[in-house]
Amino acid sequence: MQEFEYVIIGGGMAADAAVGGIRRRDKTGEILVASEESFPPYQRPPLSKKLWLDMRLEDVWLGAWQKYAHTQLFLNAEATRIETAARTVTFADGRQAGYQKLLLATGAQARRLPGGAQRAFYVGTMGEHLRLWQAVQKARRVLVAGSGFIGAEMAAALSQKGHEVVWSMLEPAPFAHFLPPGLAQRVTAEYAQHGVILSPGDAIQELQDTGSGVVARLQSGKTLEADLAVVGIGVEPRDGLARASGLKTSSGVVVDEFLRTSDPNIWAAGDVALTHGRAMMHEDHAVTQGRAAGQNMAGAGKPYQHLSFYYSDLYHFGYEAMGECSTAHEVVEDWVIPNEEGVVYYLDQGHVVGVLDWNVWDGMSKAEGLITSGRRFAPDELVGQIRNQEGDS
Ligand SMILES: Cc1cc2nc3c(=O)[nH]c(=O)nc-3n(C[C@H](O)[C@H](O)[C@H](O)COP(=O)(O)OP(=O)(O)OC[C@H]3O[C@@H](n4cnc5c(N)ncnc54)[C@H](O)[C@@H]3O)c2cc1C
Repeated sequence: MQEFEYVIIGGGMAADAAVGGIRRRDKTGEILVASEESFPPYQRPPLSKKLWLDMRLEDVWLGAWQKYAHTQLFLNAEATRIETAARTVTFADGRQAGYQKLLLATGAQARRLPGGAQRAFYVGTMGEHLRLWQAVQKARRVLVAGSGFIGAEMAAALSQKGHEVVWSMLEPAPFAHFLPPGLAQRVTAEYAQHGVILSPGDAIQELQDTGSGVVARLQSGKTLEADLAVVGIGVEPRDGLARASGLKTSSGVVVDEFLRTSDPNIWAAGDVALTHGRAMMHEDHAVTQGRAAGQNMAGAGKPYQHLSFYYSDLYHFGYEAMGECSTAHEVVEDWVIPNEEGVVYYLDQGHVVGVLDWNVWDGMSKAEGLITSGRRFAPDELVGQIRNQEGDS
């Protein structure tokens, strides 16, 4: 059995950042990154957006495991057991590794639709992306299920590739909980211009293969047929290994402010970790927390305090957002060009609790300043607080 100072379970974005975090403080401790996937770590967000459009596959790879000495990568290495007393990890193929310190960075898994359809595709991993890529070449009509980030991005990307997209969702309309009505209508109109057919307000109960495609049976009794389906109906933290190893979990791995789990030799970061009791599932969070966990494993002893942002790309629209961007809050809109370029503020009794920069870039540190200021703002005071710098729009 090989012995390591640090073992990282998971080969995703938090894992890659954790290697860099460890190396800031410890240049020589042996590191193992163990991923169940057959691909080395890569950026996950392009799988549902830029890789369908203008990004090249060779630009997605993350390289901390290659960059630093004394770092090994095990691929096809699904960790199936952690013996916390003996400090060993066992992999599905029988390999074992000993550790001094362990990081759980196992990410999240996609929720599945019942029915077992072979022509239902998920987009959480590179393997799934490549399988979908191949299948979609022969598909004309594609059913996209789910109105969250992944569904919205896949409906946009595939319609831009010339597919006839039917976009099915539980909600009566897309984006209503998130974008103010004018903006939600503007974005929905963009989907219509790209030929996307909406099927709102009706849950898919199951997806089944037909002779040549797939059929979705909806709660209302209606059916939707397509050549294949892409499903994005949410994800759940992959905390099964942690739970089976006796760590404290609660739909995610419970960590303290130093990202340590209930076992003093095990840390957790990224989609699988509960930060202040909540699962946070986006890139900036995974990367910042992964790096912080790595530093703390190497002895930094720094509490993790980071207000992370998330982003998405839909047609020519792109946004960055922070905090609670929910239309349940009071909404203040500050447009430079209505529904094209501007900032939406979400307020709770005058306090800014969320900021959405719509085709506005590099404003997230200002957004953080407003959210953390503790101040109450009158709507007028927010106008002009965040703008594109010249040449950014
Ligand atoms: C298609 C897609 C688009 C996204 N778009 C955006 C976006 O636009 N903006 C944004 O902010 N965020 C986006 N995200 C979210 C972002 O990518 C994730 O939050 C981030 O990747 C989480 O990093 P992670 O390391 O925690 O998990 P992941 O990157 O998911 O990595 C987890 C890794 O652990 C492996 N693993 C799990 N269990 C085991 C085990 N037992 N043994 C070994 N390996 C294991 C998994 O196979 C995987 O390789 C997107 C995610 C997806 C899937």
